[in-house]
Amino acid sequence: MTFLEKQTDPTAPLHWRGNMQADYLYPNGVAGDKFFKHIMQNDSFLATKCDECGKVLFPPRLYCEDCFIEIPEENWMEVPAEGTVRLFTVAKLNAHGKKLPEPKIMAMIDIDKTDGALLGVIKSNDSERDFTGARVRANLRPKDAREGTLKDIVNWNLI
Ligand SMILES: [Zn+2]
Repeated sequence: MTFLEKQTDPTAPLHWRGNMQADYLYPNGVAGDKFFKHIMQNDSFLATKCDECGKVLFPPRLYCEDCFIEIPEENWMEVPAEGTVRLFTVAKLNAHGKKLPEPKIMAMIDIDKTDGALLGVIKSNDSERDFTGARVRANLRPKDAREGTLKDIVNWNLI
């Protein structure tokens, strides 16, 4: 077996099963906190723009990682919860090698009006099609059920 072979059996590589306790808190940070509080109340996303290079950072950040400069408060902007599929894969088996009830289409989505992307699950009955370039919109939980996490995005619908 080489690393270039296509893996169709997730149990084929050497592995072991076990459980490990991992209690942790993941702080969102200032920018993440603002981003998640926004999606709890809105059907859009927030991003930040760097004045130096012009990049629109998504998820929003307080500093441009390319220019090493701080993003001023007035450079926060609202962007639509829509995007274009850059790449995708279709999972037909779960981590234990059992067939999923339906194929799961996972994609990297370039978010509109930003230079950033987000991973998401595409809702479609046709898992055989090419989703590259497909336009999608975030399907968010009802506002009263949102918790301020990425789980508020249930999946992405084709538009
Ligand atoms: Zn920059």
